[in-house]
Amino acid sequence: MIRKKKTQGQLIVLSGPSGVGKSTVIAELLSERDDIYFSVSFTTRQPRVGEADGVNYNFVSRETFEGMIERGELLEYAKYVGNYYGTSLKIIQDKLKAGIDVLLDIEVQGAAKVRAKCPEAVLIFIIPPTFEELSRRLHRRATDQEEVIQDRLQKAREEYVQIPNYDFMVVNDKVSDAAAEIIAILTAESCRIRNRIHLVSDVSPNTALERNEKEIVAL
Ligand code: 5GP
Repeated sequence: MIRKKKTQGQLIVLSGPSGVGKSTVIAELLSERDDIYFSVSFTTRQPRVGEADGVNYNFVSRETFEGMIERGELLEYAKYVGNYYGTSLKIIQDKLKAGIDVLLDIEVQGAAKVRAKCPEAVLIFIIPPTFEELSRRLHRRATDQEEVIQDRLQKAREEYVQIPNYDFMVVNDKVSDAAAEIIAILTAESCRIRNRIHLVSDVSPNTALERNEKEIVAL
């Protein structure tokens, strides 16, 4: 049976404290679901060892980033531990309109802005099995000074306060389990009426579909 293509992609927001292993979980997720587009953010932070421009982030100067803010080119942005991080509006809009699911790895202030602009985005918060384990992981990473690690742990405590604003919580104990949980969440989301209504549009024309399209244009 030929399925009609869905008219817009799902916006997926993934947040979690620095060091929780989000990048590893995302890599696992994308290896299982290669139809998802991962949004490469813009940042003013310096690249870490092993990070590549255009792959992990688009690394830009403060001046360039502030120009993007002024021109309204960002869906959302936030300052995090002294650096700017932001998401390109145009790229996201284009992908969603083309029916492609888009994954954002962003912190809590940015996630709140996405929620306000796109209420149907699915917001997932990843936590470590324990807070002590988070501290161990940040120390093991050994890319940041102790002071920066302590900043990140403090930031994590503040981020936990925002957890009730998310839709789902995933525990990253074992990477493959965390990725499997996210895939389960995305499968459930794709079964929502608003994401499947196009399958019955020939039998029952429905205004919900039209509403969805309007929302994405409004982004
Ligand atoms: P890191 O410096 O460890 O790569 O990232 C620090 C934090 O910035 C992480 O929590 C990450 O999710 C967040 N982040 C990365 N890109 C963006 C973005 O485009 N917007 C926002 N608001 N946060 C981001």
